[in-house]
Amino acid sequence: MAENKIKKIGVLTSGGDAPGMNAAIRAVVRTALFHDVDVIGIRKGYNGLINGEIKEMHSKDVSNVMNLGGTILHTARCPEMMTEEGLDKAAAIYKILSLDALVVIGGDGSFRGMQSLAERGVNCIGIPATIDLDMNSTEYTIGFDTAVNTGMDALNKLRDTSSSHERCSVVEVMGRDAGYIAVWCAMVGGAEDVMFPEEKEIIDSKKVIQQILENRSIGKRHNLIVVAEGVGGTQKLAQDIQNITGIQTRATILGHLQRGGSPTAVDRMHASMMGYHAVKAILSGEENKVVAFNGGKYELLDLEKAMTMEKHLDHEIYDVIKILAI
Ligand code: ADP
Repeated sequence: MAENKIKKIGVLTSGGDAPGMNAAIRAVVRTALFHDVDVIGIRKGYNGLINGEIKEMHSKDVSNVMNLGGTILHTARCPEMMTEEGLDKAAAIYKILSLDALVVIGGDGSFRGMQSLAERGVNCIGIPATIDLDMNSTEYTIGFDTAVNTGMDALNKLRDTSSSHERCSVVEVMGRDAGYIAVWCAMVGGAEDVMFPEEKEIIDSKKVIQQILENRSIGKRHNLIVVAEGVGGTQKLAQDIQNITGIQTRATILGHLQRGGSPTAVDRMHASMMGYHAVKAILSGEENKVVAFNGGKYELLDLEKAMTMEKHLDHEIYDVIKILAI
């Protein structure tokens, strides 16, 4: 397909918000405008497509947004996308709007939505964005670095107070099904131990408590334990530690704190480059692709292939956390 065939594209953010989504929207809008392609901003994820909540995007609409967390297009979960009716409607509106492609900025769920739309003739191009890093097709997802930095900041502060009081601090970070945020936070926050979903079976509270006792016996005066949201039982773990060891223990749940905040330089860079590559792909006639960052390079993958790929948390990080915790 020649470059000038592309006249108009749509862009939306879907699923969980992630810091850096705005930088990606900005890159999509401005790369498209640079190439004389019109851009329609679709609000509230797939809901906005189904309900026609749209807005033509001009360059000034993405001024001063790079530094903002969240998404200026807003995001949402859209149950209608799970129905034939909803999907048909979304595809029909894409056609009524005369879009040549739809850029979806979101996580795995949003990409599954793209698969269903692709079957209905919608040309979908995905940009991976989730703080959890749990997308198999790419080594980086927009929002992860900011979420980890926010977690690290909180751990630094909790370390100050738990050190002053010689307490144990149990900190729950985000990550329902994946431990990437947890192991990164544990490493960069200097935690002694970390519990994460992939190792739920083998890292139990008894082992964590045993570790705390060993560390106290060699002179540690405070303890920092990180738990991923998906492991659960954070309050109970804190109580068990206090009951069994006699060490004053506090649980802190960071929750959605980790979703917000101004994106880091890393997130702004990846989001800008991925947004640019998404539009370049459309201009070159690519169809149903996702942008990925692998082996230090940006690449385009077939949507179908991307959804069957596998990725695993590198267990070495956990081993090193334990070595460095002595
Ligand atoms: P994320 O994109 O962050 O993983 P979700 O899993 O909540 O977030 O997915 C976002 C949206 O993508 C859902 O609300 C739904 O509209 C759409 N979606 C998810 N899975 C499917 C699917 N199997 N078929 C169609 N649409 C889907």
